[in-house]
Parts: sequence; C-alpha cells; structure tokens
Amino acid sequence: MNHLITIAAEAIYRSQLTLALTGAGISVESGIPDFRSAGGLWAKYDPSEYATIQAFRQNPEKIWDMLRDMDRLIVDARPNPAHLGMGEMEKIGFLHYIITQNVDNLHQAGGAGKVIEYHGNSSTLSCLWCGKRYGAEEKRSEHIPRCACGKVLKPDVVFFGEAIPSGALDHSFQLASSAEALLIVGTSAAVSPANTIPSIAKSRGAILIEINMERTHLTSSVTDIFIEGKAGETIPALVGELKRMKGIISA
Ligand code: NAD
Repeated sequence: MNHLITIAAEAIYRSQLTLALTGAGISVESGIPDFRSAGGLWAKYDPSEYATIQAFRQNPEKIWDMLRDMDRLIVDARPNPAHLGMGEMEKIGFLHYIITQNVDNLHQAGGAGKVIEYHGNSSTLSCLWCGKRYGAEEKRSEHIPRCACGKVLKPDVVFFGEAIPSGALDHSFQLASSAEALLIVGTSAAVSPANTIPSIAKSRGAILIEINMERTHLTSSVTDIFIEGKAGETIPALVGELKRMKGIISA
C-alpha cells in the first residue's frame, strides 16, 4: 500500500486541479453507517422504502422516524482523520474542491472550506408545498417540524427521485471537466448522477485515485490507482506523503 500512496501523492503533487468525490464510507469511522454497513440504521430503515421523495410525500411522519434517528447520529458525529486530512490537504494547496454526497457537515467540521454538497445538507429544512425555508432550530423540538402552512417540513437533503441542486450539478460538471486528478473516497458510485463524475473526469484526462475498503465497479473500469483500506488511515498517509514531498516536514 505504501507504494500506491507514493504514486497517488506524486499524481496529486503534479496536478493543477485536484478534486475529491466522497461518499458515505468516509463518515463510517465517525459513527454514521453507510448503506452497506451491516445492521444499524439501514437495517431498520430500507433506503429504497424510506429515502424516496414519493415516500416522503405520501407519509412524511413515517419518514421522520428515520430522519430523527439519522439526525441523532449526525449530531454526535465528529470529523475523523479522513475528514481532517482532507481539510489539511486543502490548506496546503493539494485539494481544490470536495464534491460530497454526504449530508453530515463533517468535511466542513474537518476544516475544508471548498465543499460542494451534491445531495444537500441535513441541517436546514424546507416546505415542499409552499417553499418556505427554516433553520436548524426548527428540528430541536420533540415534534415533527411543521411549516407555518401546516405541512410537514423536509430536510434540505436530496431524496431518491429529486433533482440535484442546479448550482452543485453545474459546478461539479465544470470542475470534473477540467480536473487533473480525482480522489474518490468511500463511495460505491451506485447513485446517479454523482456516479458520472469519475467518467467525466477520466474522459478529460484526469488521473483517478480510488480509496475504498473494497473494490467497486469503478475499480476495474476507470480507476488508475486503487488504494484498499480505511479512509481514516489512508488519507492521513497520503497527506503525510504530500507534506514530505513539499518539504513541510522532513522525511
Ligand atoms: P454507499 O453506502 O453506497 O457506499 C459506501 C462505500 O464506502 C462502500 O463502497 C464501502 O465499501 C466504502 N466504505 C465503507 N467504510 C469505509 C471506510 N472506512 N473507508 C473507505 N471506504 C469505506 O455510499 P454512497 O456511495 O455515498 O451512496 C449512498 C448515498 O446515501 C449517498 O447519496 C449519500 O448521500 C447517502 N448517505 C449519506 C450519509 C452521510 O451523510 N454520512 C450516510 C449514509 C448515506
């Protein structure tokens, strides 16, 4: 693995525009399960039943059972060494944007400033019916949050069947089209259209570095460098190697 970390660091060192695409796997070590984690939240709530916009429109009270449980995990979660490492990579000039599919704020808490939230953010709420927006404080009551119009509020996360926020979609496409290196961390790349970002970047000549605990469909198709392991271990090793190359710390 050390050899692959060095090769990946060299590609990032040379790149003038480096992006990261992250998924639920990067937050697993912070205690938020991904869709693949055995047991836990997603054994109780099947995402195909609970995470669709149709389900929310039909029975928002039922979907709030899942949202409340997810919120409890997010409120308690702290950035892990992978989030912190990416924040550091941005500070030392080797990571220019993070496109995250996560809704948990952990990249920002880990020190990253340039984060595109492809699937929105769970801390604010909106009314699907009248469009009014609300801040995080609406979530604190024990009751299901309701709009002044009486309808149940929805967190500003993208459910299956909803459109990606147009700013995030366009900006990600532009960046993917001109990136020289793309770091893909903790995603199964099963969710569309986020999973088109690697092939867009690849078709424009970017080097693709994938970090995951297991192979994905990207690994044998578009990935150039596959680093198998936990994000919380491999990202700090990558940052260490970049610092060594930059001469910030002596080897
Ligand atoms: P996914 O659950 O489909 O896949 C997660 C991937 O991460 C898997 O390939 C797994 O092998 C890998 N992984 C797990 N632990 C890892 C670790 N410690 N280090 C490196 N890799 C690890 O996740 P996805 O591709 O992001 O798609 C799920 C969707 O659900 C996304 O749209 C996301 O928005 C949403 N989601 C978000 C959160 C969150 O905000 N934290 C949590 C669950 C789901």
